[in-house]
Amino acid sequence: MNSSYTSDRDSFATGTLSVEDRVASYLHRITERASLNAFLSVDTDRATTAAKESDERFVSGLQRPLEGLVVAVKDNISMKGLPTTCASRMLEGFQPLYDATVIERLRDAGAIIVGKTNMDEFAMGSSNETSAFGIVRHPLDPNRVPGGSSGGSAVAVAEGMCHVSLGSETGGSIRQPAAFCGTYGLKPTYGRVSRYGLVAFASSLDQIGLFSRSIKDMQVTFSVLAGHDPMDSTSSPAPSIVHIPTDRALRVGAMPLSQLEGCEPAVIEAYQRYLDALRATGATVTDVFLPHTETWIPTYFILATAEASSNLARFDGVRYGLRVDAEDGDITTASRSAGFGAEVQRRIMLGTYVLSSGYYEAYYGKAQQARRLISDAYANIFHQVDVLAMPTTPTTAFAIGEKSDPVSMWLSDYFTVSANIAGIPALNIPFGTDAQGLPIGMQLQGAMNSDEMLMEVAGGVGWD
Ligand code: GLN
Repeated sequence: MNSSYTSDRDSFATGTLSVEDRVASYLHRITERASLNAFLSVDTDRATTAAKESDERFVSGLQRPLEGLVVAVKDNISMKGLPTTCASRMLEGFQPLYDATVIERLRDAGAIIVGKTNMDEFAMGSSNETSAFGIVRHPLDPNRVPGGSSGGSAVAVAEGMCHVSLGSETGGSIRQPAAFCGTYGLKPTYGRVSRYGLVAFASSLDQIGLFSRSIKDMQVTFSVLAGHDPMDSTSSPAPSIVHIPTDRALRVGAMPLSQLEGCEPAVIEAYQRYLDALRATGATVTDVFLPHTETWIPTYFILATAEASSNLARFDGVRYGLRVDAEDGDITTASRSAGFGAEVQRRIMLGTYVLSSGYYEAYYGKAQQARRLISDAYANIFHQVDVLAMPTTPTTAFAIGEKSDPVSMWLSDYFTVSANIAGIPALNIPFGTDAQGLPIGMQLQGAMNSDEMLMEVAGGVGWD
């Protein structure tokens, strides 16, 4: 059940396993574990038909690069034939008229999509508790969160409901749930993967990425997804791909222990073991002090809420989304009050505030300056080291309801938001468990366009 696509593909090719059986086993698993609430809709008929076609192609030798790869897709990525809800009442039942570029690329390569996964409403959250369609539960402990906002996609991969899944990241929404659920999770370089068809949260930070149980599966899938798309003007025209250097040792930068306060002891211990594992591959590990870390979270939340308030203005009950007729005639206020949950409303209000003329320079202007400093600091660091290693999250999966005030929830994103601010790639690597058996995640970050190198380093350590 938990086998990788790379090994399944060999069985598909030799005929020892049919794609139809593999899809049926994944669909069965989705039903069996329905209480986790990982999926918002399942595409049984289309997936079964596509599986039959894949089997025929393997027989006739016409298999495509991802033939028979079974994929689950976060419900903020547009796909014809099923609703795209962003886990919000605002878009309940909404059926998009077109496929996102990532969906087109997957289908053209022979991948099969099993359904759409649950998430925090409009991708705002770190726990999946803000979904309008019920929380997602952690696979190992139903009283804990799976992380968020791509919690459904993380659970789908961790629980063997698909080979790989698509998620989206604005500030850690792939890496953090990947860390909590024990899967790989990639946030690509900004622009490497087209955002066409992704419902926008904060466009300058948003990026579609991947969850997988195996690095090889992530590599093959990423190679199909990445690349310029004329439909997304921010997608990279010709990225220069960075690989592991062959003429010298890999230089790993380590975040010094003094910058890891707030981490659980089990996370720090795993981090030290992870650095040892990298040293054992021949890498040199040196401490690199990261400047401006105290600005990461405030910068992120000012930029993300500012952009969100603008992006979500289109959901006004007139042009898009739920429409509630109000007695006083104010359809927009009535629709937005009924359609958006508390976290989304909080972010819209905060974003409108930081953009208001009296405060613009004090908040949004300052955050843009901080963004430049954070990006420059990273650029400087990646002249000294090839990759930077740090934990993905300060703790393992927390309990449902544990972080009831928004600020403590936001602080749990400490290690993830800076990669989105700087646009650099970052990868979560499952690395051991705490005393309760909950997964711990380690993170590699690299310079722009070093996505391939991060995956090579992760695969090279040899626990795949
Ligand atoms: N947890 C972060 C937030 O709440 C990141 C969300 C995301 O990456 N989409 O904004």
